[in-house]
Amino acid sequence: MSVERTAYRSCPFCEATCGTAITVDGDRITGVRGDRDDPFSRGFICPKAYGLKELHADPDRLRNPMKRTPEGWREIEWKTAYDEIAARLQEIRQAHGNDSVGMYTGNPVVHDLGALLYRPVFQRALDSRSMFNSSAIDTLPKIVQTGLMFGRQFPTGVPVPDIDRTDFLLVVGANPMVSHGSLMTMPDAPGRLKAIGARGGKLVVIDPRRSETAKLADEHFFLRPGTDALLLLAMVHTLFDESLFDLGAATGLVTGFREVESAARDYAPERVAERCGIDADAIRRLTREFASSPSAACYGRLGTCVQEFGTLASWGCDLLNILTGNLDRPGGVMFTTPAAPVDAALPKGVGFEIGRWFSRVGKHPEVGGLIPSSAMAEEILTPGDGQVRAMFLLMTNPLRSAANSTQLEAAFAKLDLLVAVDFYLNETTSHADYILPTPTAAEHEHYDVGLYCLSVRNVAKWSQTAVEPAPGAPHTWEILANLGARMMGLADVPLQYIDDLVLRQYVEAALEDCRWEDLHSEEAIGKLESQIGPERIVELLLRIGPYGDGFGRNPDGLTLAKVKAEPHGIDLGPLRPRLREVINTASGRVELAPALMLGDLERLERRLSSDPAPMLLIGRRDLRSTNSFTHNLPALVKGPQRCTLHIHSGDADRIGVTAGGNARVTSRVGSVVVPVEITDDLMPGVVSLPHGWGHDADGSRLQTAGKHAGVNANILTDDRAYDTASGTAVLFGTPVDVTPASSG
Ligand code: SF4
Repeated sequence: MSVERTAYRSCPFCEATCGTAITVDGDRITGVRGDRDDPFSRGFICPKAYGLKELHADPDRLRNPMKRTPEGWREIEWKTAYDEIAARLQEIRQAHGNDSVGMYTGNPVVHDLGALLYRPVFQRALDSRSMFNSSAIDTLPKIVQTGLMFGRQFPTGVPVPDIDRTDFLLVVGANPMVSHGSLMTMPDAPGRLKAIGARGGKLVVIDPRRSETAKLADEHFFLRPGTDALLLLAMVHTLFDESLFDLGAATGLVTGFREVESAARDYAPERVAERCGIDADAIRRLTREFASSPSAACYGRLGTCVQEFGTLASWGCDLLNILTGNLDRPGGVMFTTPAAPVDAALPKGVGFEIGRWFSRVGKHPEVGGLIPSSAMAEEILTPGDGQVRAMFLLMTNPLRSAANSTQLEAAFAKLDLLVAVDFYLNETTSHADYILPTPTAAEHEHYDVGLYCLSVRNVAKWSQTAVEPAPGAPHTWEILANLGARMMGLADVPLQYIDDLVLRQYVEAALEDCRWEDLHSEEAIGKLESQIGPERIVELLLRIGPYGDGFGRNPDGLTLAKVKAEPHGIDLGPLRPRLREVINTASGRVELAPALMLGDLERLERRLSSDPAPMLLIGRRDLRSTNSFTHNLPALVKGPQRCTLHIHSGDADRIGVTAGGNARVTSRVGSVVVPVEITDDLMPGVVSLPHGWGHDADGSRLQTAGKHAGVNANILTDDRAYDTASGTAVLFGTPVDVTPASSG
């Protein structure tokens, strides 16, 4: 007789970390519901959480390693896969150098503790500069901006809105009602956003689209795509012009104040209003309201990042926060105090680094060791020393998520070797030579080491395994450790020995600057209760962290055992001021005016004096869609077609496209035909298409997604259009032509 049991874990489908209760019968997931006892999410989940059940049962999901052969795909043993892949990678790098092997990491890594903590281990084994990351698609401007201003490596130096206490939330280029927060870990976004108004606060949204968040807001302003930096600098200008500035907690802790005042002088609201599409009086009024509110937070996300001036726009958001005294103030923007501070295990004293080398072809500066994803195709296609000839893809589908996917597909076809770690045969992995499937989130334990660095409350939670993986199926950390060991010539060494080496590296880095100076490596290692794998590293971080037991020195402090004993999670309280301990710049102060930003203003100025493009393409987020793999889960794709072109009624009339008809959308690099939806929720001169679709590619094995194929928006995005300061490709604000079309 089977007995139903319940496992508690955070949901892995977005950054919100909602608590789920997963009911299981044998090896079958029977239900997923919100965990009412989770102190952070309080029972909230969105429809995507049900995907846990469907993903686990999906017949398309790969269970064994796959090798491409002349006869087609063939399942192979894990050991054979490790041996063959490592041998081919070794061959390539011996012939062409270490940089000829590249790696690209996708954002699902953040939901797989083993992938997150062992990716750097594998990266060290590759010892290559050809490292790309999905952060380089949509987050690099924020990483660069906060890194330069606060001197910390991502994600520990990103201030997040103290949303539960703010009196005024200004949302620029973000739609948290649907995204549920990004770089702001926030379960129950709808509840938290509505609570602002309920306690007498104000929500203002600035976006080219009247988004779901804008519909909830007290005020919404349409903004022309790519002009966020102009608007935010106009608000900074107003702060100086009308003497509204007040540094608050940052007083005495900043440098570059006069340089910012001087830089903002050129951006009077009256000068930028027409280009932005927002009236100058409205810009000034909004600035006054923001500055005079008891507390206020400016939050910018994708719309401020994946655009031509992503770094300047991100800078503008935090300038507004800092110059109005809202940095490190309850209700403003604050730094989370994570219980397992992953930065403790980073090299000390390094701070934020950029431009230690430049990409071979496009000369983009590396950022924290990463090259912008927009440079991946040219690094593969351009001959010469260091040309990338093999790629290792970790949980990613860049042929649907990266700019100019047609060019990238052509580049992947030229590789000598493509290895993908992924559980689907999708549009990208179908080009691979080997596919190594990972377990689903239900099959492994987890701790949100990364996302809890950005949460709007301080929390700790250990996510339980719901269903045991199939016998012999490795966890992602084991895949990376096994391959990494072979790359370092340790093929025949037991995994425990390899893992002990990994642990020692983490321990030594973590204890370098530990608050318990008498704590040494041998004591810490000896007292860890966990035996192997990422769990040991989390235990280490928790015990040396700000709430930790210090390996017995603070007996009431947290241990992993205590965290595990509270399966719904532990609330560690609201965000607390900690600016002084966060600042890690060479000057010891918040750098208000980094040279990179000041130098980029000339480019902004040129754009301001050039003619605007008549029609710009932006993206669109959908409640039931995050990564492209969610399109293979029936509950998340049912209902009306969602991959449609949104266009304003005035534009539709002028161009001659009709609702339900098709439009051809053409950019410099490509063209797609897509069904039309007419809506006045979009600014005239702007069209919108969601990303991650286009599931009709030959070779992929996604039965459900194939029935809801849609079109791939990244056929249109242009790898040559990028934010110069960070190298991030422009995904929002691509100039396009739209014409009527009869069919696909
Ligand atoms: S909001 Fe995000 S974390 Fe919460 S249930 Fe939905 S997808 Fe999961």
